[in-house]
Amino acid sequence: MEFDLIIIGAGPAGLGLARALRGSALRICLVEQQALHALQQPDFDGREIALTQHSASLLRQFGIWALLGAQHIAPLKDALVIDGDRASAQARMCISQRLSAAPELGYLVGNHHIRRASFAAALAAADELGAPPELRCNERVCHVYSDAQAAYVKLASGQTLRARLVVAADSRHSLSRRAMGIAADMHDYGRSMLLCNMTHERAHDQTAWQWFGHGQTLALLPMNPCPESGLARSSVVLTLPQRDLTALLDLPDDAFNAAMVQRFEGRLGAMTVTSSRHVYPLVGVWARHLVAQRFAVVGDAAVGMHPVTAHGFNLGLRSIETLSGLLIKALRKGQDIAAPVLLERYQRRHQCDSRGLFFATHAVATLYTREQAPARLLRQALLHLGERCTPFKRALAASLTG
Ligand SMILES: Cc1cc2nc3c(=O)[nH]c(=O)nc-3n(C[C@H](O)[C@H](O)[C@H](O)COP(=O)(O)OP(=O)(O)OC[C@H]3O[C@@H](n4cnc5c(N)ncnc54)[C@H](O)[C@@H]3O)c2cc1C
Repeated sequence: MEFDLIIIGAGPAGLGLARALRGSALRICLVEQQALHALQQPDFDGREIALTQHSASLLRQFGIWALLGAQHIAPLKDALVIDGDRASAQARMCISQRLSAAPELGYLVGNHHIRRASFAAALAAADELGAPPELRCNERVCHVYSDAQAAYVKLASGQTLRARLVVAADSRHSLSRRAMGIAADMHDYGRSMLLCNMTHERAHDQTAWQWFGHGQTLALLPMNPCPESGLARSSVVLTLPQRDLTALLDLPDDAFNAAMVQRFEGRLGAMTVTSSRHVYPLVGVWARHLVAQRFAVVGDAAVGMHPVTAHGFNLGLRSIETLSGLLIKALRKGQDIAAPVLLERYQRRHQCDSRGLFFATHAVATLYTREQAPARLLRQALLHLGERCTPFKRALAASLTG
């Protein structure tokens, strides 16, 4: 057998899994379609990832946290959910760090920093943990199949790799998952998200906003101050139908700044865009199975979340924690790492960890994009109720702080 394990995709999930398994003595191959320099120094992609305390502790355990750079980690104290446009007619719910024992609810870190640090940790030269995995970059996987003896990964360049187990971390639109005959339920929300970094006059007080206005959804994710100007800085997220975002994407900076001040009703004072703008179509994906013969999926390939609850990568890390834990245990006991009973255990645990959050997120995303009067009334009523129900807010804070 050429490898014990082939991981498809060197995104945050594939790299995280490779790092979690360093030192396990498994012969691992990591296959990625992007070029080496794009993995070593990933470009800014607009995403500021909200990490729970549990995710932060996993990243510490994997040696990734220390490589992020303290200046790129912003603490998240409070989360504010707002519904409605005019201040007088708004419902609000605030989840404060004060509802928990932790000094912050979580952290915000740029996705490109997570990818850079994960690559450095997973692929660092041989150390006390052993040799790094073999990296095949610039290689697109075009087919995956398996039999009782092995799993096979066919590369577009013509070569076929063989391993005891293949794990796909190749995004929510996973080609490998489809090749292995795993069905997935996909929901296109008919909306896209525009993301960019902006400085603003007024402080954000380390508070994230999720503001469900009428006809638009805005989010503000607090970042550390702009290193050049010292001004307060946030990742700004605007959700609209794609046709409305296209016009905003092409606006000159001054006109874009003015449009965002207007959308935020001037609450942050003057705003200035300081990064490129990025757009993501919103599609949620629930894979019906997470395993097949000698095959498993992790990260977004397992559960592709709508970003509104900011949990996609947090769940991706949970999938890595669960699968790597089972693989290491099997190795210690001298058991087969691709045994059906192990893979089914992984599927059961990860679906159990993610099902509630996935479908609750879907319900929130659906309700908060409906603009009919009954939906608006229900939205307001739920937030009023949530704000008054301290045990509910305490439970939300606990889910973030662990
Ligand atoms: C707008 C937005 C905001 C988000 N905010 C948050 C947040 O606040 N908190 C949070 O927890 N999560 C958030 N997420 C989710 C988070 O970004 C994802 O969960 C995470 O990036 C997924 O990582 P991944 O490695 O599973 O997949 P990806 O990052 O998609 O990586 C997949 C990798 O596989 C490679 N690949 C794909 N196909 C092939 C192939 N055929 N052959 C070889 N290689 C292949 C790709 O090149 C890529 O490198 C957000 C997502 C979006 C879109």
